[in-house]
Amino acid sequence: MYSHHSHSGEYVAHGVDKLDDMVARANEMGFELYCLTEHMPRLDSKYLYPEEKTGRTESDLETLQQKFRKFMDHALTIKRHSHGAKIIIGMEVEGCDSQHIAYAKSLMEQYPDVLQFCVGSVHHVNEIPIDFNQDMWTEAVKVAGNNFKQFMIDYLNMQYKLLTELKPLVVGHFDLFKLLCPQRLCVNTQTGDIIDEGSPGAKCIQQLSILHEWEDVESLVVRNLQYIISYGGLIEINTAGLRKKLLDPFPGREFAILAKSMGARFVLSDDAHAVSHVGVCYDKALKYMDEVLRLQELHYLSDNSGSLEIKSVTIDSLKKSPFWENY
Ligand SMILES: [Zn+2]
Ligand SMILES: [Zn+2]
Repeated sequence: MYSHHSHSGEYVAHGVDKLDDMVARANEMGFELYCLTEHMPRLDSKYLYPEEKTGRTESDLETLQQKFRKFMDHALTIKRHSHGAKIIIGMEVEGCDSQHIAYAKSLMEQYPDVLQFCVGSVHHVNEIPIDFNQDMWTEAVKVAGNNFKQFMIDYLNMQYKLLTELKPLVVGHFDLFKLLCPQRLCVNTQTGDIIDEGSPGAKCIQQLSILHEWEDVESLVVRNLQYIISYGGLIEINTAGLRKKLLDPFPGREFAILAKSMGARFVLSDDAHAVSHVGVCYDKALKYMDEVLRLQELHYLSDNSGSLEIKSVTIDSLKKSPFWENY
């Protein structure tokens, strides 16, 4: 089994367990590949999360830098001594804004012997975190004119900027913007404005296809997917969506079925931040890939003396793996 995206509590404040313990768990479960992809450091105090703030901004930002350097050293040590899962080291991009995208590029250039790939992720829309809590998500939508359609457009444009500048080998949680979208949110389907439930023209988000409702949104999704396919990027099926109680992993079925129809290649990730997240919901993800997406094959990265190759396994043979005895 494979995971292309993980974190630990040692090197990011919102993680839980030690990196060694997470890798030990991956080995115990029989992972063949476990990628270590800590979040890259953020450069600006406005992007510090509450649990990272001590009141001394300069030193808080320096802490992020130190932690990332320590992560790279530690990950290299684990990789050299690993007898179980193959370890590939990367980083998760923080596509907060243009400055951070440029910084991600420079980190990849600065540490080519450590960072073999990156997971290209957007966690901010209009500079506000969209996966931290409900209040911030609501704030991010407010900044987009309290318009859900515009919020998605802003997300997709930032993602496109990240894709074109970095060409990340793995694209992280493609449709993260919907994680904290309230089930009962109502929009005016003409404009995308968020309105009260009883208002004329109001439709609940649950009742509409957020992909197909607006042509301009759909065309941006198609543009982003086409671009990923054009440079050989891989789309991760990320089980953190299931862990966080969404119906599907990221990307959800509408997006994943469209991506599949366009010829996208998928990899699997647990996006673990704790030992208990290692391989979390992989049984459900298998069902999703097999029965909902009807995927024929799953891709994964393989390290051939330092250079990465993309390999694939059929879903039918994946199903026969002893790995599933973990569930
Ligand atoms: Zn994280
Ligand atoms: Zn992420």
